[in-house]
Amino acid sequence: MAETNTTKIIVIGGGYAGLRAVEKLAKNPQNEITLFDKNSYHFMQTEVYDLIANEEDFAQVSVDLFTFCLGFKGNVVFAKQEVCSVDFTNKKVISSTQRHNYDCLVIAVGARTKFVADVVGLRTHAHGIKVLHRAMQFKQKFEMALFKRVEQSGTTCSAINIVVAGGGLSGVEIAAQMASFAKCFYKKNNFICRKLNIILINSGEKILQGLDEKLVAKSDKRLHKLGVSIRHNCRVTEISEQSVTLSCEEVLPMDFMIFAGGIEPNALVCQLQLEKNEKGYIVTNSHLQVQNHEEVFAIGDCTTIYNKGSVVAPTADTAEQTAEVCAQNINNLTQKKPLIAHAIKSRGVLIALGRNYAVAKIYGIYFSGYFAFVMKKIVERVYAKKLDMHSHKGCKKIFKD
Ligand SMILES: Cc1cc2nc3c(=O)[nH]c(=O)nc-3n(C[C@H](O)[C@H](O)[C@H](O)COP(=O)(O)OP(=O)(O)OC[C@H]3O[C@@H](n4cnc5c(N)ncnc54)[C@H](O)[C@@H]3O)c2cc1C
Repeated sequence: MAETNTTKIIVIGGGYAGLRAVEKLAKNPQNEITLFDKNSYHFMQTEVYDLIANEEDFAQVSVDLFTFCLGFKGNVVFAKQEVCSVDFTNKKVISSTQRHNYDCLVIAVGARTKFVADVVGLRTHAHGIKVLHRAMQFKQKFEMALFKRVEQSGTTCSAINIVVAGGGLSGVEIAAQMASFAKCFYKKNNFICRKLNIILINSGEKILQGLDEKLVAKSDKRLHKLGVSIRHNCRVTEISEQSVTLSCEEVLPMDFMIFAGGIEPNALVCQLQLEKNEKGYIVTNSHLQVQNHEEVFAIGDCTTIYNKGSVVAPTADTAEQTAEVCAQNINNLTQKKPLIAHAIKSRGVLIALGRNYAVAKIYGIYFSGYFAFVMKKIVERVYAKKLDMHSHKGCKKIFKD
């Protein structure tokens, strides 16, 4: 640790984990925090389903990181730089332009969409949705597809086929939201040409593998009601400009496709000289420190969290819980107090399934329908509001001068 009274802390990644760590660490005036992100904004991935279905615009799902950092009491700065490497021996974070010293380091770089290498054409023809500009490209395509159907109203009416690969939380939410939005859109405007087919490809026997049976059954029923067609026990094997070939020997016509088939460690994590597990995620101890470097912590999706031997699902909620433990432990470390062991567990799951409908299990209690939808919206709004408050304060500081 530094001899001076201040602790230089670098947080890499302004996602759910990174921002919560910054918020908590900034409360200690002795911490001097620099947040690094390759983008100038925080992207609220948990709301991407609303972005794609045109229920929200990009400003509602992003927060400016510069003003967010400026909104604290002068001990947080933002650096829009991609971190390329870390020199753990000399405690330096290396970006393409500079080297930055740290006393404590928080790695919170998340994960990336796993574009499986042996699926021909996947990278070329499918959209990932974990990064904002890709999600926006898809949103624009979806809107144009709806508009084309409007143009065709009263004349020829060809079908448009959207394939969503991945029967996990993100794939299910996006398929449901697009189907629901299209339904309301055509109905409201009385358009005749309504041939919008949404096909969800799921590699397992059931969607939402690993989630509670009751939530799975309710979600499945809702997708059917919305007209989403599901292919179970199928994987995508090849994609061309206009078709998707499945392992279950079916070839689907395709106008465009979203790939939500899983995540993997991102480029920085892959090249860091740290202990990793069999899937390539950073191994941490119960205090969330990496091996051999007590001043380095890994939080959020770039690590794997275990509770009583079971993996805790990598969600925004898990990421925020890791950030809180990490911030507490950094303060304890610098004050030479004992570190706390985490007991992170999933507090609940909320699944949006189209307009005004969601299913949820919170602290063991089930909810569904409009009430669950309102709960989901409240969680999202409270989260966004907190970040906005810092951002507004930062913005005021700029325009006051
Ligand atoms: C479509 C979708 C829907 C989801 N829905 C839900 C949901 O309903 N509920 C839920 O709890 N979870 C949901 N999740 C999961 C949730 O979004 C993730 O678990 C969460 O984002 C993880 O937070 P994180 O901070 O670890 O990573 P991220 O939020 O991914 O943030 C990582 C940050 O690191 C930055 N970064 C990466 N590499 C570098 C580098 N080398 N240098 C500088 N910066 C870098 C990135 O730009 C990014 O800002 C969803 C995910 C997706 C994709």
